[in-house]
Amino acid sequence: MEDNKCRFCGGELVLSKSRTKKICPFCDAKFDVDAKSLGDPDGRDAGLNQELFYIDRDFREAMKKKNTSESIGAIRYCLNELGTAKDVENYIRNSLINDEDVASEGVNQRRIENVKDKIEPHMEAGERIIVYGDNDLFFRGKNFVLVTNLKCMFFTKKGVKTVRHKDLISIKLDDSLSTPSWLLNGNYETTISNFGAKYQLQGAIIALISLLIFENNQDRERIRLV
Ligand SMILES: [Zn+2]
Repeated sequence: MEDNKCRFCGGELVLSKSRTKKICPFCDAKFDVDAKSLGDPDGRDAGLNQELFYIDRDFREAMKKKNTSESIGAIRYCLNELGTAKDVENYIRNSLINDEDVASEGVNQRRIENVKDKIEPHMEAGERIIVYGDNDLFFRGKNFVLVTNLKCMFFTKKGVKTVRHKDLISIKLDDSLSTPSWLLNGNYETTISNFGAKYQLQGAIIALISLLIFENNQDRERIRLV
């Protein structure tokens, strides 16, 4: 790549919001940026993007576990190869939501319709559902998780726990069991859990949330990964 020019159309490139790509605003071409912030996949940072994460644990043992490494590999793929929330959202819709127990707007939409009454009071103007899952730690059809462009919502019999993306400070990986869980702000009640053993989807959700946070506020503190 010559200077900061698109090699296809000569347009001036801009840095993607995730800071992992340079994007041509004229023809949509994408180019990798210098990979030095991306870490080492076999190292303690598991190759996770240190522009977005403050990595406060050693991931080497976790990466030896099959399901956990699949989940982390998906985060890495989404951040380093896709690089924008829009691309991660498309990847989730087109490649990862293919089973009955997960849904998105337009994909298995019927599942979302079934709980429309519970969801609607919590939806804000401009809010879109990106992932719906109900085969988690919960009973099918009764309790469910929603990831939107604004927040994660965890519906149980007792009510709804919400973590707005902008309020996410830390993500804790619990890999003590064979199925990894990602605890938002360290809380078990707000956990991106296994989504029916779909570890790639789980990782993609973590990447999506992280990208959405930084796309809306590039100057905020990095997310602490523990
Ligand atoms: Zn171009």
